[in-house]
Amino acid sequence: MKLLDLRKDGIDIQEQIPLSRYTFTKTGGPAEFLAFPKNIEELKKLLKVVKEEQMPLTIIGNASNLIIRDGGITGLVIILTEMKKITVNNNEVVAEAGAKIVDTAFTAARAGLSGMEFAAGIPGSIGGGVFMNAGAYGGEMQEVVESVEVITPNGEMKTYSNEEMEFSYRHSLIQENDDIVLQATFKLIPGKKNKILDEMEYLNALRQYKQPLEYPSCGSVFKRPKGHFVGPMIIKAGLQGKQIGGAQDSTKHAGFIVNKGGATATDYLDLIHLIQKTIKEKFDVDLHTEVRIIGNNKED
Ligand code: FAD
Repeated sequence: MKLLDLRKDGIDIQEQIPLSRYTFTKTGGPAEFLAFPKNIEELKKLLKVVKEEQMPLTIIGNASNLIIRDGGITGLVIILTEMKKITVNNNEVVAEAGAKIVDTAFTAARAGLSGMEFAAGIPGSIGGGVFMNAGAYGGEMQEVVESVEVITPNGEMKTYSNEEMEFSYRHSLIQENDDIVLQATFKLIPGKKNKILDEMEYLNALRQYKQPLEYPSCGSVFKRPKGHFVGPMIIKAGLQGKQIGGAQDSTKHAGFIVNKGGATATDYLDLIHLIQKTIKEKFDVDLHTEVRIIGNNKED
């Protein structure tokens, strides 16, 4: 079976599609093949062919924490945003990997379940959120995830408990293996619906005030190093507002790099490297990226 034969089964597979269409930075080269499975059966068929053809595989959620190099991605890229069912069972919410974190948090709120307020404005998918242990305003996925269902590249299904997920700051077990998150179950606490929704609205207003949401970006570019804050170091180093090509260190929030128009992934990476080098020289601090950097360099 060849990959494109799966189109006969109704699976949406495209070729040479610029991934800048999907990334939140609006940068990134093309996917050799790009598929949007609608359910687990379609995903399993894709994984089987990838294995048979020994093709490289890349999984993407909502592409809000990704820089894809300008040379694009070889092999098959799977975007999971069509697998997006969210269900509420008593005090639990079960969300498929491609469901938006925001939609999951609001579904929980409307069901009078508290715990996901922190996530009201995180623009990723559940799969990406679990992979990253996404967090904000004092909350983290780690605190609300009860279990995570995954499929291995060999098609084996597994369920991890919260403890087995090895969550820590912007880290989970899924970063150490090739598992694909299928869905997560969140254990929440009954609360007053209006109070939960008010808290979410408040946190989103804070976000709007502090973050340059009017421009494409990938959120905070760097992880917070122990004992330091990224934004103030960048400001002290004189790099806030620094622009390379179309990528600019945000004048509103120095921890963000925004696309002011026409930025390439290379512009982003050049600016990231300049910031890392300068911060090391000035403060002897190593900045590690929170944003995941994948794909091929562009050949000249
Ligand atoms: P993607 O960017 O698609 O992928 C990120 C990584 O997860 C990749 O390595 C990918 O391979 C992997 N992945 C995705 N889905 C799966 C899956 N199903 N199975 C296995 N691996 C998978 N983050 C925060 O933590 N807190 C914030 O407050 C926050 N604010 C943000 C604000 C803005 C404006 C933006 C643009 C981003 C922000 N982010 C924040 C970053 C981002 O939204 C989170 O990291 C989010 O969890 C990423 O989810 P995603 O679906 O977009 O992942």
